[in-house]
Amino acid sequence: MSYNIAIDGPAGAGKSTVARRIAKEKHFIYVDTGAMYRAMGLYFLRNGIRAEDTQRINEQCKEADITISYADGEQVVFLNGENVNGLIRTEEVSNMTSACSVNPKVREKLVELQKRLAKDADVVMDGRDIGTCVLPDADLKIYLTAGSGVRAKRRYEELSAKGEECDLAQIEKDIIERDKRDMEREISPLRRAEDAVLVDSSGLSVDEVVEKILLLCR
Ligand code: C5P
Repeated sequence: MSYNIAIDGPAGAGKSTVARRIAKEKHFIYVDTGAMYRAMGLYFLRNGIRAEDTQRINEQCKEADITISYADGEQVVFLNGENVNGLIRTEEVSNMTSACSVNPKVREKLVELQKRLAKDADVVMDGRDIGTCVLPDADLKIYLTAGSGVRAKRRYEELSAKGEECDLAQIEKDIIERDKRDMEREISPLRRAEDAVLVDSSGLSVDEVVEKILLLCR
């Protein structure tokens, strides 16, 4: 039997940083489900498909083949055979991704892939619906959150460090909008699973959050 850890929460709560660290400590596989949705978002952007155009999204969904592999423990996402890891972290892709991930066809396709990955391997999987929908029987569920101001500042620092020009107020506005869309969508909205442990990372360092979760694992 594989051991599965599910980490859900809003954008910028620190899920991926924390999940990556825990995977390393436990020698588990880190599955970043947001990256899969982002690759789909990139596909629709490239093909000029609007998120509101449900019919085209439904038709085109099957044309985007999403696969993942691992290089030095890092997840690499392929979109129709192309490594798109370096292309999916822009604000443009973030906003498109959140808008098109409300589509049931998009979700169905990626949830199936995610379930398959967790079936045979010990994983730390992060996203929005992991504890509620993808891995309802996960051994440990965490709902990781932080205030929107804190999350915006983290995202700002991350983008600035990469040399991307960005505006803090705009990032916070986008984050609030994305939270709202992720929480209010009809299918698999972002919410804390009843059996998930709530961790607020606002006043905590990465080390402290990781330690807390490792303790819960033990
Ligand atoms: O986690 P990340 O910020 O990379 O996710 C990008 C977007 O993908 C989210 O805003 C959300 O709309 C969507 N997503 C989702 N379900 C997941 C993971 C991500 O709907 N399990």
